[in-house]
Amino acid sequence: MDLAEKISILAGAAKYDASCASSGSGTPGSSQTPGKGGFGANVPAGICHSWTEDGRCVSLLKVLYSNVCRFDCAYCVNRVSADTRRTSFTSAELVELTTEFYRRNYIEGLFLSSGIFSDPDIVMEKLIETARILRTESGYGGYIHLKIIPGTGEKMIREAGLWADRLSANIELPTDKSLQTLAPQKSGKVILGAMNDFYGLNSQFEEDRRRIKSTPAFAPAGQSTQLIVGASAEDDRQIINLSSSLYRKFSMRRVYYSAFTPVGVNGSGGIPDIRLPVISELPQVMDQQGPSRQLLIREHRLYQADWLLRFYHFAAAEILDEANPFLETGLDPKTAWALRHFDFFPVEISRADYETLLRVPGIGAKTGRRIIETRRSRSLNFDSLRRLGAVLKRARHFITVNGAFFGADNPRQSADPRRIRRLLLDQDDALQLPLFEF
Ligand code: SF4
Repeated sequence: MDLAEKISILAGAAKYDASCASSGSGTPGSSQTPGKGGFGANVPAGICHSWTEDGRCVSLLKVLYSNVCRFDCAYCVNRVSADTRRTSFTSAELVELTTEFYRRNYIEGLFLSSGIFSDPDIVMEKLIETARILRTESGYGGYIHLKIIPGTGEKMIREAGLWADRLSANIELPTDKSLQTLAPQKSGKVILGAMNDFYGLNSQFEEDRRRIKSTPAFAPAGQSTQLIVGASAEDDRQIINLSSSLYRKFSMRRVYYSAFTPVGVNGSGGIPDIRLPVISELPQVMDQQGPSRQLLIREHRLYQADWLLRFYHFAAAEILDEANPFLETGLDPKTAWALRHFDFFPVEISRADYETLLRVPGIGAKTGRRIIETRRSRSLNFDSLRRLGAVLKRARHFITVNGAFFGADNPRQSADPRRIRRLLLDQDDALQLPLFEF
């Protein structure tokens, strides 16, 4: 098989992994589409676009080392029981390909994962070898993200972290029960163990670096993971609770949510695996070509809820509780929280502290900081809020500015959360809402 064919197969096989910030759906309006407040989208030939922590857009070559796999994860196009063409790169081929693309400015980085074609440590060694040659022999200075192969040991994770910028072990499904059903060779304990190994090593390297300046960097872009949404029956509350705990326990940089793509239904991977749940019994609908719009909205809402955890200082229990186990599809989670806690409002913009401003729908972290900064030197009004970036069609129902309320023409209508809900539901086009400022 020639190299072009290998690229086509192994880039296609990698596109369902969202943990390098591209789910592969590429669906217009998806939260994964650049420019829509999302995190990347695939283009042919395995090049995806991804956003770095500091907001830069980078192009990554996203491929598998091999799509030969001993495991039989029901949701995966590469599962051993799938009817798909199989191939593998050699490390030399991958080094040449990456270096060539990098020299031509096609890419700024490499995302490398693999099917489990052999013992996990042997597979991991192949990924490490590729990264090591890139760094030491080919003069490659770009970004490298390596997948931690499930079952690989701490020694290999340590070695991988010396060459890669980021490592990721995919948690895949929110509970052990679902893993046992859909990915029986995987175990939550093993995956969490790898995350814990990474966390321990990272802390150790940081500690060493504080004492010994020459200590090498260990995966400076940290670790991330992916959760598939919609392949199993867990609710959003379970997913958000899990994410919250991953951020807390393992200093996870990112949890990526990937709307389940029914591989096998649309021609890739043969017949759908019978272990997949009956779609009509799930709390969302699937169509024949990929994640439905409803599932993409669910993915987008999870990203917004995740944003609340990481940047808006919400606790998981504030976002969803036993009575509300799913995020509303028609409203972003901050607005939904605000309407459930209407007594908290209105917030007086001229006096509120930063934490309080963050609770206001339509005022994001950047706008909150600008408000605090600007009001030190001058008083604010409704128009200046707009200039500072507030989304007033939402914020106006929840704020006063120097005592004045702008939420309704008739002030007597203003304090009715049901009416505000109706107004905001009409305005909300879920997939158009930006992630960063809501
Ligand atoms: S381990 Fe599972 S998810 Fe990974 S490539 Fe193999 S079948 Fe797919």
